[in-house]
Amino acid sequence: MTPQESREFTERLEKAALLLLETEMYRKPDDLARRFGLPVPVVRYWWRKTDQITRPVDQSQLSPREVKSIRKASQTLEGWEKVKRYRPECGAKLTGGRRCKRSVVIRQPEGWSLGALADRCRLHGGLSKRPRKKAKDDEE
Ligand SMILES: [Zn+2]
Repeated sequence: MTPQESREFTERLEKAALLLLETEMYRKPDDLARRFGLPVPVVRYWWRKTDQITRPVDQSQLSPREVKSIRKASQTLEGWEKVKRYRPECGAKLTGGRRCKRSVVIRQPEGWSLGALADRCRLHGGLSKRPRKKAKDDEE
């Protein structure tokens, strides 16, 4: 997953989470975070950035369009579990021409604006707060 893809993926998670909160499918950011295994501070932050006004839907009278968008949002968020488990390899160059096989790190909540997944493992700078420079790829 490139940094760009990680950011886009994270934006999709955010949009999906906000839809489910706005429609009151989940009443609190914390409930939603727990249900989908997302970091609570991240979901709280996403929600706080909005006007926080809900427009609850009547779950027994959803239009087909609402059903579809709610289902899609849930699926997007369920996808996070899978992404968490099967993170891409770090791929940093090691001596001897091999590449690092460790999973890339999941960023700390404050780093999620850069994308939930870093492009490197813990050892190779995945937790750094700033995006890595491209040139660094070839040093390692
Ligand atoms: Zn690594």
